[in-house]
Amino acid sequence: MLKKDDDLSKLRHSAAHVMAQAVKHLFPDAKVTIGPPTADGFYYDFDVARPFTPEDLEQIEHEMSRNIQADYPFERRPITKPEALDLFQRMDEPYKVQMIRETPDDEPMSVYQQGDFVDWCRGPHVDSTGKIRAFKLLSVAGAYWRGNEKNAMLQRIYGTAFFTQEELDDFMQRLAEAEKRDHRKLGRELDLFSISEDVGPGLILWHPKGGRLRTIIEDFWRKAHYERGYDLVYTPHIGRSKLWQTSGHLEFYADGMFAPMEVEGQEYYPKPMSCPFHIQIFKSRQRSYRDLPLRWGELGTVYRYERSGVLHGLTRVRGFTQDDAHIFCTPEQVEEEIRQALDFALFMLRSFGFDNYQFYLSTQPEKFSGAQEQWDTAQQALRRAMESREIQYEVDEGGGVFYGPKIDVKIKDAIGREWQCTTIHFDFNLPEKFDIYFTGSDGAQHRPYMVHRALLGSMERFFGVLIEHYGGAFPLWLAPVQMLVLPIADRHHEYARQVEARLEAAGFRVEVDTRNEKVGYKIREAQTQKIPYMLVVGDKEAEAGAVSVRSREGGDQGAQPVDAFLAAARAELTP
Ligand SMILES: [Zn+2]
Ligand SMILES: [Zn+2]
Repeated sequence: MLKKDDDLSKLRHSAAHVMAQAVKHLFPDAKVTIGPPTADGFYYDFDVARPFTPEDLEQIEHEMSRNIQADYPFERRPITKPEALDLFQRMDEPYKVQMIRETPDDEPMSVYQQGDFVDWCRGPHVDSTGKIRAFKLLSVAGAYWRGNEKNAMLQRIYGTAFFTQEELDDFMQRLAEAEKRDHRKLGRELDLFSISEDVGPGLILWHPKGGRLRTIIEDFWRKAHYERGYDLVYTPHIGRSKLWQTSGHLEFYADGMFAPMEVEGQEYYPKPMSCPFHIQIFKSRQRSYRDLPLRWGELGTVYRYERSGVLHGLTRVRGFTQDDAHIFCTPEQVEEEIRQALDFALFMLRSFGFDNYQFYLSTQPEKFSGAQEQWDTAQQALRRAMESREIQYEVDEGGGVFYGPKIDVKIKDAIGREWQCTTIHFDFNLPEKFDIYFTGSDGAQHRPYMVHRALLGSMERFFGVLIEHYGGAFPLWLAPVQMLVLPIADRHHEYARQVEARLEAAGFRVEVDTRNEKVGYKIREAQTQKIPYMLVVGDKEAEAGAVSVRSREGGDQGAQPVDAFLAAARAELTP
């Protein structure tokens, strides 16, 4: 399997060379940079006078096909650093020159040539261009050189390549499906959220319908937490630099934080996580073993600096609300707490329609904080919890972070893509740094175990995943507008309002479309708004106390008494 992945990367990277060759033929002034393979294909960044157009991409594809038909061998030639500098200076390729310059003098270098195109590259590549049989250019986007907005804006062409045409066709089909479900597109069409340049990139504005959905998720989340013995806390958005010094954030994580603001000569940082605040609550009084376990949850909004180049809709943002919780417990309680957290995670994910998961266990790295005994207890608890639930998991041996082992859960969405959501991880660092303890039954002071856990991850990211999973067609319990009543003519407005009032009294979210439009038009619009039920009312319905039901998935369901429809809709509400 791994071998095959390697081969595929090699194929795709080779295709990137062939693309660069084509671009240099068609746009001799283009400056080449880098062209790595990616999980889905490859790209190459070019410095060009104007952005590439869709017509350019077609031409480039055509030129690539010619290079592939010519079946040029990829010829490797070792080269010294001075030779490489000289060669690429003569070729007037400043980006290559910069990269060569920055490479250590003693590092072996090579150039690869296919036809008349030479690239400075480590390889490897396929034997010849003819090996690239199934490829496609996908899109073009601006990308800063080295991802830094202070550098030149380049044009990045994305493409993909596969071993067979069949695999490529398959991929293109999945891509089309993913595009239809793109949460940025649906977020606009369904009026769920937006991002404003004036507010700032990576900062989400939740519109009324998105806000409605979030409220439903949060209400469900809060209720589930109280039912499972959690308490909910609220903590501020900013905290003094001293706090972040103690936690180690300023030492190890300052790059990922927003800059501080000064208040009365003191620096305050927007919080990148809530943990130190929860620790302060723990420290606010003497804790005894009788108080434990303590489970504190918070929907805490945090701010982290991400480069503008990597921001993406709801899934990569600068401000987000984590569904964070911290469990403080004794060594004896650890295993049961982990088992419960795992069950809780599965309950949450299933409730939102995800039934397909991958579990990952990351274990002790070479450098670690905390005692060996703690690591052993923690890792055993994580393993046992998964085994007791007959969960298959992959182990990243030694791949854990320094402060504690963890379980990550990735969910698979409706079209098979994996998303990281749940994480349950131990922290042996913060309890130490903040020196927290509880009084044991022996009267002595003991360090509690501290577990961080997020089930959905963040509200923003989870919302993005949810939109794509359902393609915007949310199940009844989540749909921001569950039912739309459609009066056929003006004289039916009054009855429509009566129906609305009855449904609302039963707890449903209902709207009436009283616009002066044809019913067919209103139905089509409700359909694109992905509203689960459309209820048409005219003379016959008004007379019979009924509604003509159209469902989003099933189309026309015929006329039903309002009560019968209500009962059926209630039964459909899950969880
Ligand atoms: Zn290469
Ligand atoms: Zn935490």
